[in-house]
Amino acid sequence: MDNSATQANISEEIANELCAVLGTDNVCTSPEDLDRYSRCTIPWQSRCAAVVFPGSTDEVVSVVRIASRHRIAVWPSSKGRNWGYGTTLAIEDGAIVMILERMNRILEVNEELAYAVIEPGVTYEQFNAYLRSNGFKLWVDCTDGSAQGSVMGNAIERGVGETPYGDHFGNLCGLEVVLPDGDLVHVGGTRKGLKTWHTHKWGVGPYLEGIFTQSNLGIVTQAGIWLMPKPESYNSFVYEVRDERHLPKVVDAFRHLALTGVVNTKLHMINDFVSMTILTQRINEKVPQEGPLTDADLDALRRKYGISPWSCAGGIYGTREQVKLQRSLLRKALSPYGRLIFVSNGLLPYIERVINWSWKNPIYRKLTEIAARTSLLVLESAPYVHKILQGIPTEFFVKHAYYRYRHPRPQNDVHPAHDGCGLIWFAPILPFTNDNIWPYLDTCKKLFTEHGFDFYVAMLLMNPRSVICLMAIIFDKDDPDETTRSKHLYASLLANMRENHLQQYRAGLQSWDDLFKDAPELKRLNGKIKTALDPNNIIAPGHYGISQNENDAPLDH
Ligand code: ADP
Repeated sequence: MDNSATQANISEEIANELCAVLGTDNVCTSPEDLDRYSRCTIPWQSRCAAVVFPGSTDEVVSVVRIASRHRIAVWPSSKGRNWGYGTTLAIEDGAIVMILERMNRILEVNEELAYAVIEPGVTYEQFNAYLRSNGFKLWVDCTDGSAQGSVMGNAIERGVGETPYGDHFGNLCGLEVVLPDGDLVHVGGTRKGLKTWHTHKWGVGPYLEGIFTQSNLGIVTQAGIWLMPKPESYNSFVYEVRDERHLPKVVDAFRHLALTGVVNTKLHMINDFVSMTILTQRINEKVPQEGPLTDADLDALRRKYGISPWSCAGGIYGTREQVKLQRSLLRKALSPYGRLIFVSNGLLPYIERVINWSWKNPIYRKLTEIAARTSLLVLESAPYVHKILQGIPTEFFVKHAYYRYRHPRPQNDVHPAHDGCGLIWFAPILPFTNDNIWPYLDTCKKLFTEHGFDFYVAMLLMNPRSVICLMAIIFDKDDPDETTRSKHLYASLLANMRENHLQQYRAGLQSWDDLFKDAPELKRLNGKIKTALDPNNIIAPGHYGISQNENDAPLDH
């Protein structure tokens, strides 16, 4: 992989074979299309040789067989919106990028057992709309990323959402997978049509579903997904911590609430800079346009927008009695350290109306801001938080990627990769204790400052024992110096993470080389499996650091 895209071409023979299977409309080889699908927000670059859009499992099998015969790499994506981690970039030039967005059928919804069977192209927006418009009393868990993201793509990346069903891979059950040799397997069941394929996660024998996630051992063409029964009652909550000295108490309280099951949401805690990136862009502020914000500027912006040093959000779900009880337990545990506000479905229309009025009338606005003790812009995010926590996705929070963008951010068609935004995700996961979190975050913050960047960190509770400390390096991709510094910062963060005996919960192309540095035996094991399942080395070679071992001679098929 290089920093500059080079020209790569697919042979006419391969292009013709692909067109014969998929139709010419579903095979792209024009320079404009190749540019478009070789664009990402990270400062690394490769260039694909073709983009294909299969419309069925049979077509996926055919493409894999063509690629295998010609020994050309295929990089699958469901929707290809994996911004900040690599989007649709392959490691090397010359790959076929496969996008599964045409396979977007919802094949089954079982309301009684609360699961569905979907194809890879099903988006959060589509799935949520389908369930609601057909009257199913089931909720899908979404992320605060793109509403056009793939439900399955995120689960295959082992992404995390918002509700008690936010462990997306944890809620997949029963996969259909095309193997690199073109064989089709139904993982999790011993035969097709097995009644428990989508209800009993572990199947029988070795548990194999995991090897098709964060890997390159097959292409998933169908999956069962468990859904959340619509609860009788639901509240979202926002919790503002204005005095940072209280943070250790807050972490202790949240850990206790999560371990005892009072809170089973995927709690989000964001620092002030994360809020800032959602509310504004650097070009809109009268502050120096280079380097990190000074403490004084940060303080002034906090006051301007009514942002707390840390803000938290989550949901509580259950019967009316359960939600009432959870509210009082949360109040008791959290109120001493910050301001806790609950939003119910009943309150939501009222909040939305107040926001609308306040935008139209400066006096209302002033009064609302005084009463809410924050800015109208911050208040405006509450309805989006409330909706996301019940599976209704939005592009609202994707705005953060445009913080360093030199132009006003788009209102529609939000696509940071195509727009040329600079964003690298770094996603270490930590034990959820104060001893682990704060000293580590201090070292990271120092590295951000030293390299000239503001410190962006969101803590996402993966489970009561582990917290993801998701950091974003947001940079101006049109500024070569800033782009170079973003890479140096990323390298320093990786080194610092390893020194602290930590690893990422999910990794982008920018760190696959590093993933198994401290575990060569694991790398060899992955390599052995890769060699066995993908002898011609065609599915995303090198993805998640998994490549054939040099000494394992490939078999010739
Ligand atoms: P999203 O658009 O929701 O962000 P992507 O479609 O970009 O998700 O998928 C994220 C990553 O997950 C891809 O880069 C790829 O590595 C992997 N992936 C996604 N879908 C599949 C699939 N159907 N089979 C195998 N791997 C997949």
